[in-house]
Amino acid sequence: MQAALLTAHGLDGLSVTGADVPTPGIGEVRIRVETVGLNQLDLNVISGRGPGAAAKLPRVLGLDPAGVIDAVGPGVESSRIGEPVVVKPNIPCGRCPRCSAGREADCPTQSVVGVHRDGGAAEYVVVPARSAFARGSIPAALASAAVHSLPIVINAFEAAAVSRHDRVLVTGASGTLGQLAVAYARHLGATVVAASRAPITGAAASAAADGVRTVLVDSPAILADAVALGGAPDVVIDVTGHAPTLAAAITGLGWGGRAAFCSASVDAHLELDSRDFYIKRKRLAGVASADYAQVERAIALVESGAIVPPIGSRIALADIARAYRDFASSPAGKVIVDVR
Ligand SMILES: [Zn+2]
Repeated sequence: MQAALLTAHGLDGLSVTGADVPTPGIGEVRIRVETVGLNQLDLNVISGRGPGAAAKLPRVLGLDPAGVIDAVGPGVESSRIGEPVVVKPNIPCGRCPRCSAGREADCPTQSVVGVHRDGGAAEYVVVPARSAFARGSIPAALASAAVHSLPIVINAFEAAAVSRHDRVLVTGASGTLGQLAVAYARHLGATVVAASRAPITGAAASAAADGVRTVLVDSPAILADAVALGGAPDVVIDVTGHAPTLAAAITGLGWGGRAAFCSASVDAHLELDSRDFYIKRKRLAGVASADYAQVERAIALVESGAIVPPIGSRIALADIARAYRDFASSPAGKVIVDVR
C-alpha cells in the first residue's frame, strides 16, 4: 500500500512510499482509508518537537482518517466489516478513574494515532475498534474535517458551561477551530462576538452575515475595546493560543466569566491580574482532546447538517509533503488529503 512515511525528522524525511498492509490485532479494526486531514500535530511529529517528540520513527502520519472497515481482529464483531467510519485520534487508556467516568479527554495516559502508532495517511490503517466511530451518511472528507476539531470545541464549550443566555467571544474566529466555535455557539443559541486578526471567511463569515457581531483586531488592546463596545462577554473561547490575546479577552470578561482555550500550540506564559480573576470569580480551563460522547455528539451534528466543518482545500496523497510545507499559508478550513 502507499503511505506517507516519516523516516527522519524534517520534511525531507517524509515520502509517500510502499508499506505493508497492516493486520488488525485483538480488539482492532482495519480501515480502507478514503481521506485524512492535515493537523498541526503532524508538523510537531515531522520536526520531532513538542507533543510530536513521542513518535518513534519510522512512522506513518495521519491523525483523523475516514474510510470503511475492511477487516476485524479477534474479539471484534465481523458485522462491522463494511461500516463507514472515522477515527478519533486520541486513544484513552480505558482503565483509569477518568475513563471509567466517561471523561476520556482527561485520561492522563492517552496515545494518539499517527504519533504513538501508525496513522491514516495511508491506504489502510489499523486502530482500536472503539476508536472507529460510525459516520453514517457523512462523506469521508467532512468526517475527517470534523472528528478531531469539533469534539474539542464542544469540550471547550462544556468546560466553560456555555448556555444560550451567554455572550460568547471567540478569539481566532477565522481559523478552522474558530469557525467551528462560532458555528457551535450559534447552534447553542448564544450571542457571539467573533474576533480575528485576519478577515473572517467561510462559516464564520456567513455566520457574521447572519447576526454574529464580528471584530477585526490587530492587537490585544483593540480586542478589549472592541469587546467593551457591546458589553462584557460571559465566556471566551480562545483558539489562538496567543497569550496576550487570551489575557486581554479574560480581562474583558464580566462577573463570573469563564474562559477555555483549546489551541494545539499555546504560548508558555500567560499574564493575568489575579485580583481581578479572584474578585470577579473568573475561571479558566485548558482543553485538549475529547470524550467519546462528545465525538458522537459532533458526528450527529454534522450528519444532521446543523454544523458544516470548513474544508479549505483537498490534495492527493502524493502531494502531502508539499501540503505540509504550505500548511501555515493554506486558506482557512481543513486541508483534506484524498488517499485514493
Ligand atoms: Zn484513562
